[in-house]
Amino acid sequence: MKFDIDFNVSYIKEKIENLAKFTDPNIPFTRIVFSEQFYDARNWLKKEFNSLNLEVSTDNAGNLIGSLKSNIKTEKVVILGSHIDTVPSGGRYDGIAGIVSSLCVMKHIIENDISLPFNLSIYDYLGEELNDWSISCVGSRGIAGLLTEEILNRQNSVGQVLKDEINKIGGNTKFLDKPLSIAKNIIACLELHIEQGKILEQKKINIGVVRSIPSISRFNVKVIGQAGHSGTILMDQRADALVASSEIITFVNKLALRLSQESNQHFVSTIGKITVSPNAAAIIPGKVEMTIDLRSSSKSSREQYIKELEEKIELMNKTGTCKIDMNNIAYAPFVEMDKELVKLFKDSANSCGLTNQIMDSGAGHDTAQLSRLVPAAMIFIPCKEGLSHCPEEHAEILDISKGTAVLLKMVENLAMLNRA
Ligand SMILES: [Zn+2]
Repeated sequence: MKFDIDFNVSYIKEKIENLAKFTDPNIPFTRIVFSEQFYDARNWLKKEFNSLNLEVSTDNAGNLIGSLKSNIKTEKVVILGSHIDTVPSGGRYDGIAGIVSSLCVMKHIIENDISLPFNLSIYDYLGEELNDWSISCVGSRGIAGLLTEEILNRQNSVGQVLKDEINKIGGNTKFLDKPLSIAKNIIACLELHIEQGKILEQKKINIGVVRSIPSISRFNVKVIGQAGHSGTILMDQRADALVASSEIITFVNKLALRLSQESNQHFVSTIGKITVSPNAAAIIPGKVEMTIDLRSSSKSSREQYIKELEEKIELMNKTGTCKIDMNNIAYAPFVEMDKELVKLFKDSANSCGLTNQIMDSGAGHDTAQLSRLVPAAMIFIPCKEGLSHCPEEHAEILDISKGTAVLLKMVENLAMLNRA
């Protein structure tokens, strides 16, 4: 079956441009989960599903679904999915490329009357990006039964409770205490995503076939010093919380660099969020809160990192003037993609005549949550200079199109394997 790249390119371009319009106009491209723009974009997607005559529904976890029923009677399902929410001031491709390529595959299958031995669904997984409730991958965690009572009852900065928002968008959080019933019927969850790194672009490779997704840990660090007059308190009389914090920031950066070199596996750590109180020019900082983000494909390096960081904080608490507390606030384990699906993705890329390589993801994805329970796998396509989670994020439409061809081939290969 020949895939019409020309049609594909114009279709993908149009849909990506359509979705880019649903943004906070002052901070492009911003479409935070549950925001007005997010609701508008979901309505747009519903219309796209309707125009393909798909069965449209929202599951208990708030995922928006467009389904094509198989001609044969079956409960089995192959899921194509990604997400349409963005980070604040994010890009036009993260998640979106996956949704648009899924629409494209679905359209091709319908227009060419390709019969499948399973139902085929497109999922817009709810709230993939880290949100104001300090949780990412809400919808995919929901499918896998990983949204705990504690998570569902979290309040965001303006007092909204997460479960209320999920219910408002069409979910039903009463049924999220275990995996959704669809899970047992899933043959495969497949996702196309931009790489968000530089490897494919630099090596001029079309497709990255993802083998694993690193563990993600987040720690909240509170540094309590003593605020005071910046003119009158002498240098040796201070408990400056920001100065103590800067020591931790530098320590974390050097530690992560060393462990990444030692382990030779994916290992990165970042302090990207910090609040200083009272944050005034003439006051010694009395309190700092910061979030450490740690991603590791190596269990032993992760353990070593935590051990050394705890020792450092203990030492600072003993010898310094500030009181430091560290708490683990989030953890998603290291996961491997389904080995059979990884192989099939590689075969699919090869039969499309596209260069490809097996690789590890640096970022977390819905597929990581799903693969804890069901067979799941994903592919990456190149993006410009590895830029992502910023307005400059860019992927060539032709590259998305090539990835789409692999996604279609993958569905066809699964159809062949699952035919009785
Ligand atoms: Zn994404």
